[in-house]
Amino acid sequence: MESTDADLGADPGQSLLSTAGLEADAGAPPASGETDSVVHIPVPPKHLSPSSASVFRQCPQRWKFRYIDRLPDPPGEAALAGTFAHRVLEDLLSLEPQDRTMDRARALATEVWSDMQDDRDFRALELDPDGVRNFKWAAWRAIEGLWDLEDPKTVELIDTETEVSVEIGGVPFIGYIDRVESTADGLVISDYKSGRAPGRRFSSDRLEQVLLYAAAFAELQGTLPARARLLYLGQRIDEAEVTAENIGEVTERLADTWEELLRRSETGEFPPDPGPLCGWCAFVRHCPEGLAEVERRHQAGSLRPDAPALAEAV
Ligand code: SF4
Repeated sequence: MESTDADLGADPGQSLLSTAGLEADAGAPPASGETDSVVHIPVPPKHLSPSSASVFRQCPQRWKFRYIDRLPDPPGEAALAGTFAHRVLEDLLSLEPQDRTMDRARALATEVWSDMQDDRDFRALELDPDGVRNFKWAAWRAIEGLWDLEDPKTVELIDTETEVSVEIGGVPFIGYIDRVESTADGLVISDYKSGRAPGRRFSSDRLEQVLLYAAAFAELQGTLPARARLLYLGQRIDEAEVTAENIGEVTERLADTWEELLRRSETGEFPPDPGPLCGWCAFVRHCPEGLAEVERRHQAGSLRPDAPALAEAV
């Protein structure tokens, strides 16, 4: 996650419940016992995912901290609640259509909860009983939010958690598709979102992720999906018809990002690009420019009071 939008996917290796890979693997993690004084030589990443591309575009230094230096970036409470909901929905959709009821979802949530309690990142949150209750409530709201969007019994499922690892537009791409289903007008690629849906003017930008999944799926399967969708649980569905034109646009943008990333990997220059998301950057303590940005925004009253980085800057 990686943003204020609690993306339902997360980085595996960091969490027992995680489902997706460290998507822009950029080299081996620091060996145990290494310290901050160790210099990590940038190496070209092995592949690029929509989320790592997005981090790089937002701030090259943030990308370096995460994917080259491998500084800890544990998922926050909202992201973990999203991962929990994601797992339950994945299990639910794997059942026979007639069994996809809210009662079954509740039972699955109880099963998944036993894993969650052992999850390293969840334990690190150190929630008190009220905090645990709120966590469960947030996860359940996301789960039952599926019924606000559709009746899951009607979904003609093809696959869930489909890994797509393939070269598109000359870029070694990797992603995990939450759901592929068959509909009257063709295949549909969907991704669940538990965070707040963006304003309408940003909604087409956010669809880039699922359009890239559609491009990768088409490359692997030889079939262009009909639509790509984001399911904002409990809120709304944003979707786009998949066309050669929009697939071409997102692929070209990915290739531009990849080229820039390779160039910076050669030079080792990953400059900071301070902005509003510094307030949610897990690496702010390592970044004087980001700390200054958080402080400035705080003084100007333009930073949300729940921005985690405030604790580091003020
Ligand atoms: S704090 Fe801001 S400028 Fe610094 S690495 Fe994070 S996002 Fe980039």
